[in-house]
Amino acid sequence: MLLEIKNLSVSFDNDEGELLSAVKDVSLSLDRGEILGLVGESGCGKSVTAMSIVRLLPSPPAKYVGGKILFDGEDTLSMPLPQLRKLRGKRIGVIFQDPMNSLSPLHRIGEQLVEMVLLHTEMSKAAARDLALEWLEKVGIPDPAIRAKAYPHELSGGMQQRVMIAMGLMLEPDLIIADEPTTALDVTIQAQILRLMKRLHRINSGVLLITHDMGVVSQMATKIAVMYAGEVVETAENVSDFFANPKHPYSRALLQSIPSALTRGKRLPVIPGNVPPIGSFKDGCRFADRCAFSRDECFKSNIPLKSLGNENSVRCLFN
Ligand code: SF4
Repeated sequence: MLLEIKNLSVSFDNDEGELLSAVKDVSLSLDRGEILGLVGESGCGKSVTAMSIVRLLPSPPAKYVGGKILFDGEDTLSMPLPQLRKLRGKRIGVIFQDPMNSLSPLHRIGEQLVEMVLLHTEMSKAAARDLALEWLEKVGIPDPAIRAKAYPHELSGGMQQRVMIAMGLMLEPDLIIADEPTTALDVTIQAQILRLMKRLHRINSGVLLITHDMGVVSQMATKIAVMYAGEVVETAENVSDFFANPKHPYSRALLQSIPSALTRGKRLPVIPGNVPPIGSFKDGCRFADRCAFSRDECFKSNIPLKSLGNENSVRCLFN
């Protein structure tokens, strides 16, 4: 298995010295050739889970309070930092949501790509430059030799995101973490970027795709995990089965919010209320306050993630 997250729990210290649970007992797995769509609304713990893989959460305040993250059998949570730094970029590529926060505003994009190659390989500067231009071309940047000399702010949002994708993929990592890679883009550019990512996904790499957008998952993912309020509430090994028959009321509510030809001109249903902020999770089902099917027993004790066979699972009393 390429990636196994086992019972991961992450908390954050607040100003009063309390430890607030953000992610609890999360277990996920991803193999080569798979694209795991990790979905849920903002604040459900998707990015905390993903950034824990490469320990990119600021610590403190983040604390890894339990679990393991095995990347090719080695635990990245207990790995010495120099060893982890060698994995980042080289074997684990990260495509962030906001390129302007991730690209250096002070350096030309070509320089940033070249520096990334030099940091992780024995390539000469000339070969690194060739590779950078090759990838700018692959991600659809016109006139790569000219654009390589541009600073990030001289490129459009779509072009910046293409540069991030080139940076995340150019060293052909085994694992790609794509955190809301198209959220900041308009619909046309989003479709182009998704097509590009799908085309560039190599069969011997695995992708962890984080998104709140079920439409993106339906186009990209091969398997799915749904998170709510820091917990996994449903996993499905087959995306088509999931879309045909989601088990958890939260998954069903998310799917009902996708626009389609059938809903054109109609008001889409919304899930009432909000995701509870970290530190305010109550006992019982964390979704109970928003669930249309809740009963008294849903509020009483914590609900375990139940196996449904075929490696699928759900966290609901009535499934
Ligand atoms: S356990 Fe109860 S409240 Fe929670 S999702 Fe299932 S039906 Fe809804």
